[in-house]
Amino acid sequence: CGIVGILGNHEVAPVLVEALKRLEYRGYDSAGIATVSDGHLDRRRAVGKLVNLSDKLVHEPLAGKIGIGHTRWATHGAPTETNAHPHRSGPVAVVHNGIIENFKALRAELTEKGYKTETETDTETVSLLAQSYLDQGLAPRDAAEQTVARLEGAFALAFLFDGEEDLIVAARKGSPLAVGHGDGEMFLGSDAIALAPMTDRVTYLEEGDIAVLTRAGVEIVDADGRRANREMRRVQIDT
Ligand code: GLU
Repeated sequence: CGIVGILGNHEVAPVLVEALKRLEYRGYDSAGIATVSDGHLDRRRAVGKLVNLSDKLVHEPLAGKIGIGHTRWATHGAPTETNAHPHRSGPVAVVHNGIIENFKALRAELTEKGYKTETETDTETVSLLAQSYLDQGLAPRDAAEQTVARLEGAFALAFLFDGEEDLIVAARKGSPLAVGHGDGEMFLGSDAIALAPMTDRVTYLEEGDIAVLTRAGVEIVDADGRRANREMRRVQIDT
């Protein structure tokens, strides 16, 4: 139900949780974050309030200066820790808002190829599909783009990759997503409210956009695969 992402210069876990708190107003049943630290992708998830996730992070900290976070409002699969986002399939983690309408067909295709599902969610087919493209030798960015091209439904997505400490790929189709610009840092959020403590410079993605974020900035490709120039605005939100 809520998405955040940070390519930062400091430890991101506490900042991700703070940003998720700012999205609490949307409602949620579970939450989670994933980071990459020393090249390793890892995640923590918890059912219920964000405080449960914070408590877990006290006992099992998550290092890293890049990460994604999610508050879930379950549509497919019970609100359990297993079904909570980020979903991880091998070297890729995914957070997702919305519904993947064709997930059953995709899941059947992936199962046929030997990929195994561990959850009841529509979202896991997204991470599995991305893993299958990585297995075919595609670069992370291309794997994410090919994955998004296969998806039907309304969604906002963010991808994080093992071994990639300067890359988040995001996509918007039917669910809002905003890119935040910092100084040598970049951010992603379901809305500008989530990003308000970090930056007031925001670019809203448009329908069908895919955004490739690095600390140097964002490259946006539109639904036709063309490089898009989206306006950067200054937003005024009380923190
Ligand atoms: N359909 C996904 C799920 O049930 C995402 C729900 C959401 O937007 O939080 O896990």
